Amino acid sequence: MGQGLSCRGSHEHGLFRAVQHGDLQTVSILLKTHPSLIHRTTVYDHHSPLHIAAANGQIQVLSRLLDGSANPDVLNRQKQTPLMLAAMHGKIDCVEKLLEAGANVLMFDVCHGRTCLHYAAYYGHSSCLKAILSAAQSSPVAASWGFSRFVNIRDGRGATPLHLAARQRRSECVHTLLCSGALVCASTSRYGCPGSTPLHLAAKGGSLDCIRELLAWGADRLQRDASGRIAYVVALKHKHGACAALLNIASAQPLVWPSSLKIISELNPEAKLLLEQALMDANKEREKNILKGSPYSLPSPAHSDQMDDNISEVSETELCCICFEQVCTIEVQDCGHQMCAQCTLTLCCHNKANTSTSNPTPPVCPFCRSAISKLMVIKIETHDDIDQDGTTDTTCFKPSKSRKFRNMNEGSSSSFKGLSSFGKMSGRSSGMIASENECIDDKPQ
Ligand SMILES: [Zn+2]
Ligand SMILES: [Zn+2]
Repeated sequence: MGQGLSCRGSHEHGLFRAVQHGDLQTVSILLKTHPSLIHRTTVYDHHSPLHIAAANGQIQVLSRLLDGSANPDVLNRQKQTPLMLAAMHGKIDCVEKLLEAGANVLMFDVCHGRTCLHYAAYYGHSSCLKAILSAAQSSPVAASWGFSRFVNIRDGRGATPLHLAARQRRSECVHTLLCSGALVCASTSRYGCPGSTPLHLAAKGGSLDCIRELLAWGADRLQRDASGRIAYVVALKHKHGACAALLNIASAQPLVWPSSLKIISELNPEAKLLLEQALMDANKEREKNILKGSPYSLPSPAHSDQMDDNISEVSETELCCICFEQVCTIEVQDCGHQMCAQCTLTLCCHNKANTSTSNPTPPVCPFCRSAISKLMVIKIETHDDIDQDGTTDTTCFKPSKSRKFRNMNEGSSSSFKGLSSFGKMSGRSSGMIASENECIDDKPQ
């Protein structure tokens, strides 16, 4: 009997070892001769073979175990599922396979009351995070819980995945979560007293990227934590000077992604990417001004050089008639008016700031004043009639007029100050002016 036990023990040990090292052949042989081994667990942590395969990213072994009818939601000592361990270790193949096998995304462990989504966010594995979110969208979880409730799921201490990602400086996860509907101002408190927001935790972690993302999604710099501190004070306390500079309520407000606008939520991925990039560029410019002369000036990726490059390229394409700085990349559906991503975005953000966030008025086309129902990316075509002499006068306007408007825009950087009612139908008939007299004077403030 004793011999039998030790023999079984050595089989177990052999199996765990083979699983850990991805030795599929040994695993297959052992499971064929001793099928019950699949239910064995390690002595202390109670890890099943499936846990070990998931944590080590052994996708072939994991598939074999699942085919061998291993329960995808088997629990270890801490009541963690193999999916949690795969998300924790960033083993995307295993995460996907487990989700495919129907692993439950809504399980909570007993260490911190966390889900697989918390672990993916905490450890910054954004591909795993995306896979879990996408599975949650189509799983029974979405039906029973609601997807947005899942995105904002709280752990035992009231932290959402966004809190954890912000605290751990995982800016990519912060971005993905915000895009998926994570509440930017969620507080860790559960029973009335105010806890920390993701912005407080990002200030504590000292990640400029996370702070930039959170501010761009409308995080409130004035919100206070349980000790009555705003995020600025938290950043100062932890000696994150550059973060503090951005969080200082005396610093200029960043552009905020106009997420509540219907036209924004219905953007196609290409247009969304363009506008997001424009928002980040605008906010980085603003940061440069805030941090200028402070000891925290950023090692910024030579933004002004990029601008110069753009301008030389622009001479061959269509310049935006609002700022005369960037190329037109966005077209308003129906009227066909075009502008650059930066101006499109400022148009949407401007409107958002002036209206209640609950029911924002959609912005109107600055050229023809018709309501914007949809934004599209312009398909770049090559025109034969483009002026090739290297000047920027490739629009349909007369050079003098075009130059005049450029001058008016000098000093306004790439902000929206230069918005005029100047319009053009690029790629269609000749340029048109909606209402020439109200040019320039009609600046939104
Ligand atoms: Zn523009
Ligand atoms: Zn228009």
